[in-house]
Amino acid sequence: SFTVAIVGRPNVGKSTLFNRIIGKRISIVDDKPGVTRDRIYGQVEWRGKKFTLVDTGGIDPEGSDVMTSHIRRQVEFAIDSSDLILFLLDSKEGLLPTDKEVAALLRKSGKPIIPVINKVDDYAAKPELYEFYQLGLGEPVFISAIHGSNVGDLLDQIVGFIDEDEGPDY
Ligand code: GDP
Repeated sequence: SFTVAIVGRPNVGKSTLFNRIIGKRISIVDDKPGVTRDRIYGQVEWRGKKFTLVDTGGIDPEGSDVMTSHIRRQVEFAIDSSDLILFLLDSKEGLLPTDKEVAALLRKSGKPIIPVINKVDDYAAKPELYEFYQLGLGEPVFISAIHGSNVGDLLDQIVGFIDEDEGPDY
């Protein structure tokens, strides 16, 4: 089925977004570094269209300030085995060098990408979000995975990539 992979640095909120969309807490969210978890899959149905959502990976024990082999493997897995990639970024931390390296890999892949800027908990606070337009990956979607804001818009965009003939089987 149509497969959507979530990639991004450790701690950007991949697990939180996965749980928000799946609606169940079936993956682990942990603040403590050094907690590793495997890829987790969930089935989603939205506006009559179905897709498989993959959370590509856990917290990187090596840290998030460099492009580690862990993050590279995650991104390569997503490029090889998904139809659409959600590239999750953290509005509170801003664009880090790792994010730019991941963006370069994703641009080179030619895959459909949605840049998703997480932790936009308060739009009224008008955070500095303009830098995310520099990624060269198209219009970002701004969400708060914790509060659920704009996650419906994100799901609308995701299913917009799914052909009608990939809809429900009868
Ligand atoms: P992952 O390592 O990318 O899977 O990130 P997690 O889902 O484990 O989240 C890392 C931290 O960011 C946790 O403390 C989450 O509670 C927090 N977090 C996730 N989404 C949001 C959000 O929308 N707003 C805020 N303020 N924090 C968030």
